[in-house]
Amino acid sequence: MLDQSKIDALRSTRVPPRKLFIDGGWQDGNGETLDVISPIDGKAFTTLTRAAPADVDRAVACARAAFEDGRWSRMAPAARKKILLRLAELIEENALDLAVLGVRDNGTELNMAIKAEPGSAAGTFRYYAEALDKIYGEIAPTDPSVLGLVHKTPVGVVGAIVPWNFPLMIGAWKLAPALAMGNSVVLKPAETASLSLLRLAELASEAGLPDGVLNVVTGQGSVAGEALALSMDVDVMVFTGSGATGRRLLEYSARSNLKRCYLELGGKSPNIVFADAHDLDEAAKVSAMGIFRNSGQVCVAGSRLLVEESIHDEFVAAVARHTETLKVGDPLDLSTQIGAVNSLDQLEGNLGFIESAVAEGNTIALGGNRILQETGGYYMEPTIVTDVKTRDRLAQQEVFGPVLAVQTFKTEEEAVTLANDSIYGLSSAVWTSNLSRAHRMIAGVRAGLVHVNTYGGADVTVPLGGVKQSGNGHDKSLHALDKYVDLKTAWIKL
Ligand code: NAD
Repeated sequence: MLDQSKIDALRSTRVPPRKLFIDGGWQDGNGETLDVISPIDGKAFTTLTRAAPADVDRAVACARAAFEDGRWSRMAPAARKKILLRLAELIEENALDLAVLGVRDNGTELNMAIKAEPGSAAGTFRYYAEALDKIYGEIAPTDPSVLGLVHKTPVGVVGAIVPWNFPLMIGAWKLAPALAMGNSVVLKPAETASLSLLRLAELASEAGLPDGVLNVVTGQGSVAGEALALSMDVDVMVFTGSGATGRRLLEYSARSNLKRCYLELGGKSPNIVFADAHDLDEAAKVSAMGIFRNSGQVCVAGSRLLVEESIHDEFVAAVARHTETLKVGDPLDLSTQIGAVNSLDQLEGNLGFIESAVAEGNTIALGGNRILQETGGYYMEPTIVTDVKTRDRLAQQEVFGPVLAVQTFKTEEEAVTLANDSIYGLSSAVWTSNLSRAHRMIAGVRAGLVHVNTYGGADVTVPLGGVKQSGNGHDKSLHALDKYVDLKTAWIKL
């Protein structure tokens, strides 16, 4: 049970200027810093170090040295497991501090962040810690005169670049399997959400992770991120963020050492509601949260509502009714259901989408405005836009904000066509009481995730990844481990 007075005590705790976390401790960069501005009130509350390419190279060199001398990569699996389990415990012991720090940085409502950030990160570290000593190599069914052994070896140095929407959760999706398999990591968090990941690195050291195995470099994507992705000594890049940056990473790989790049990118996920859905009011309520939680800054957000024409008016009215009950405001206030937009840039981008929607003849059925400007923070009304046509900007481009685009369909075939008319293929949902139709839709919709009669809510046991331009890798589940191991064959003549 969260206690508002404890949260209020933490909300203005001084955060000292942050350095880079390299080789198990805090290191200076070349003196350049970046203000950390809280989206809660628009005020700077600490600074980050802007890592220069030379700082990134230093972090990579430490990660390489740690990998090569085997302090972690050749540690007994049972010992690695113990350290990662201890880290999970430390995350839980520090959950409220981590969550409040993260919310001050990125604006997610604490009610959600407490579970989605430290809660999920602890669970993810525990899951991969428990898995790491259950991964076996193989003996190939060869001619008996030889022995073919397939070893699973760590890849070496992993570069990880993550976004600002759920830094601890997404960070843990990369770090936990990478570390579990014995790799060293250099992590570059987003400019507007680095603080909780820097703290995580400190907790990892406290848990017993050897120095140099996990390094965190902060600063601009176009400088520190680029240097990491161009490094000749990084073996694999894992990334979550926008398609534009994902494309650059592939170019950097081609220009450097052909490192593998696993990309988790954006979405424009269709939430498809048939008139035969069992409980339309429940569907409307869940659909509202499926787009508006964390102000729509969720990669899998159901941002396109495709609704059967016969129930359009009734259903949109129900979504609007539920949306109007959601309180937008200070994300550290426990009565808030929707917090702040991450940055002024992001907010202005969202409002630009509203302007273009009006210009394209769409109807703003609810919201559309910046609110609570007097706080200095970045808040936006949950917004519902109807009369969206399939070539309109709102039907095709990811807003990554609290904006729901509504389209209609008449038949199941049309629903599938509309759903797939997108460069993206991350998430989706179908609401129907017809079991056969649900299975046909699961088969027909091109997406990495199809919800049926729900939206959101998943756990570490199932993979998350996209198809088409939503990405090419999976986080979570045992499948994610494949990204962090190389297969090495030993061919032994007997
Ligand atoms: P972004 O691509 O702008 O930034 C992501 C990270 O890349 C940041 O750390 C940034 O500093 C870094 N970066 C930026 N330019 C770089 C460059 N030239 N070289 C190397 N690194 C660089 O994305 P964002 O705005 O932080 O995040 C939002 C996007 O992330 C949305 O598109 C969202 O859908 C996506 N996302 C996807 C998932 C998923 O699992 N598929 C999850 C969350 C968010």
